[in-house]
Amino acid sequence: MAEFEPIAGQDDSSSQIQAETLVVGGGIAGMTAAIETAEIGKKVLLVERNPSLGGRVAASHQYFPKLCPPTCGMEINLKRMRSNSNVRILTLAEVEKVSGSAGDYEVQIKLNPRYVNDKCTCCGECEKACEIERDNDFNYGIDKTKAIYLPHLMAYPQRYVVDPKYAGDERMKKCVDACEYGAIELDMQPRTIAAKVGAIIWATGWKPYDATKLDTLGFGKYPNVITNVMMERYASVNGPTGGKVARPSDGKDITKIGFVQCAGSRDENHLPYCSAICCLASMKQATYVRERYPDAEVHMFYIDVRAPGRLEDFYTKVQDDEKFFFHRGKVAKITENPDNQNVILEAENTLTGDITKMEVDLAVLATGMVPNTADEPPPLDTPLDEFGFIAPDTGKGVIGAGVAMRPYDVSASAQDATGAALKAINVEGRR
Ligand SMILES: Cc1cc2nc3c(=O)[nH]c(=O)nc-3n(C[C@H](O)[C@H](O)[C@H](O)COP(=O)(O)OP(=O)(O)OC[C@H]3O[C@@H](n4cnc5c(N)ncnc54)[C@H](O)[C@@H]3O)c2cc1C
Repeated sequence: MAEFEPIAGQDDSSSQIQAETLVVGGGIAGMTAAIETAEIGKKVLLVERNPSLGGRVAASHQYFPKLCPPTCGMEINLKRMRSNSNVRILTLAEVEKVSGSAGDYEVQIKLNPRYVNDKCTCCGECEKACEIERDNDFNYGIDKTKAIYLPHLMAYPQRYVVDPKYAGDERMKKCVDACEYGAIELDMQPRTIAAKVGAIIWATGWKPYDATKLDTLGFGKYPNVITNVMMERYASVNGPTGGKVARPSDGKDITKIGFVQCAGSRDENHLPYCSAICCLASMKQATYVRERYPDAEVHMFYIDVRAPGRLEDFYTKVQDDEKFFFHRGKVAKITENPDNQNVILEAENTLTGDITKMEVDLAVLATGMVPNTADEPPPLDTPLDEFGFIAPDTGKGVIGAGVAMRPYDVSASAQDATGAALKAINVEGRR
């Protein structure tokens, strides 16, 4: 009998888990590290803080450069994990404490309650009965979900979850009554389990730079200024508008859109580094707009366009689009035209100093990626670089993977995670 079952959720009853490798973070990097480890026969424990796996990639509409949906890569990884009894997955879980040394760590993991057990069939009756609404964090707060919700359509595990803020709310009893399977347990409590592991991979990824800090760019002030991560959700068929990219203020079609590159990036006052993917992400998002609106103009304001390595081909391809205009210029200011709620971008050409003003229906701020490790450092005194990414190759602390290490695209994150899996196996081998 497999000591490890490919379970999802916090349903296991064992008080101590043993695994060769612990992977923290269930985005593309963590999932890759976990499955690569498991497929060479090592037991791996994957700990994800959210109610489902997938990280930021699950919230994208399409991947550059091939423009395939995230379900593509995700489903393959999930299938590999589901069929491999060496992987154990804990969602709604967080590492609280780590002690010991390489090859022999003791880890304390907190399991937060889902308030929904494995009898859930995702029939949705609880959601229909629920009267409470909350901000939908998966859609970056653009819309609401009920207090009991499925995180998103391709969520793994496919199981509802209750927002902990409302578990004690009397009104939730209606959801319990609506569930004919007895799947909702509002009295579930957090608990702590222990694990013994040989190596630790830290793949906690990133968050978008807070665009409200860019006070001259109007985010949060003008409805027709959004960020690049929001654009992914607007374009997505399971997003807040069912895939219609339109002006948030009035749902009007797009005739002219402006992409503001380096919104806060490469700026000593905000993020001093380049996130490496924002130019490609904007070019990709331009294709979402052009697909839906064949007559719409796309204007991209940049300091310089960065499309590393093989991604140069994607840049070349979009340059062939006669409605795609590149403007050298750093957007310093965005204001609103009060007559129509269009937004006016003011940019300075970084070579000539010339000022351009342009009115567009919608502006997208290409904000960069901030490593979660900057605010929540990994355990074991793991060295970080000046920006909060895990410092490479110090041989100290946890093994980093994916964007916890540096701004990577998906394929580089997966490659990095495979390397991390190998490093972890070597640590294990030294025991
Ligand atoms: C606007 C935009 C568009 C993009 N589009 C593309 C694209 O088209 N193609 C492409 O190749 N790349 C794209 N990228 C880059 C891509 O999103 C990243 O390469 C990818 O998300 C990296 O995956 P990751 O697993 O390292 O991090 P994440 O995706 O951030 O995953 C990290 C996971 O760790 C979990 N976690 C965090 N902290 C903890 C903790 N303490 N304990 C447990 N779990 C934790 C998180 O909940 C999350 O599930 C885009 C980026 C942006 C900003």
